Amino acid sequence: MSKLTNALPNPADDECIRCYLVRVGDAFSCDGTLRAVSLFRERTAPNDSDLVSKVKNAGIFCDCEFRMNNARVVDDAQRAPQGHLICSATTHPESVAGCANWAECGS
Ligand SMILES: [Zn+2]
Ligand SMILES: [Zn+2]
Repeated sequence: MSKLTNALPNPADDECIRCYLVRVGDAFSCDGTLRAVSLFRERTAPNDSDLVSKVKNAGIFCDCEFRMNNARVVDDAQRAPQGHLICSATTHPESVAGCANWAECGS
C-alpha cells in the first residue's frame, strides 16, 4: 500500500467546500479529522486562516460531520448523469458556505 493511496485530491478552483467534501467523501473514508477542510482552506481560502478553528467552534471535528452539518442538497441541484454533484459556485468560496446546490437546514 502506497501512502499516496490516502492523498486527497485538491479542490477545483471554483468548487465550494461542501461539493468538495462530498467528492472526497465518496472516494475516501473519513479519518476522524478535518483534513479535507484543512486542505480546502490551504488551496482555496488561504486568507481565511481561522476556518478550521471556526469549524471546530461550531462543534465539528471531522470531514463527514462537516459534510452533513446544517445543509442539505437541494432538489434541483446540478448533477452529472452518474449522479455526482456538479458544483455551481459562482463566487470564490472563501468561507464554509456551499454553492447553489445546497440549502441551509432549518431555513
Ligand atoms: Zn468523520
Ligand atoms: Zn458546490
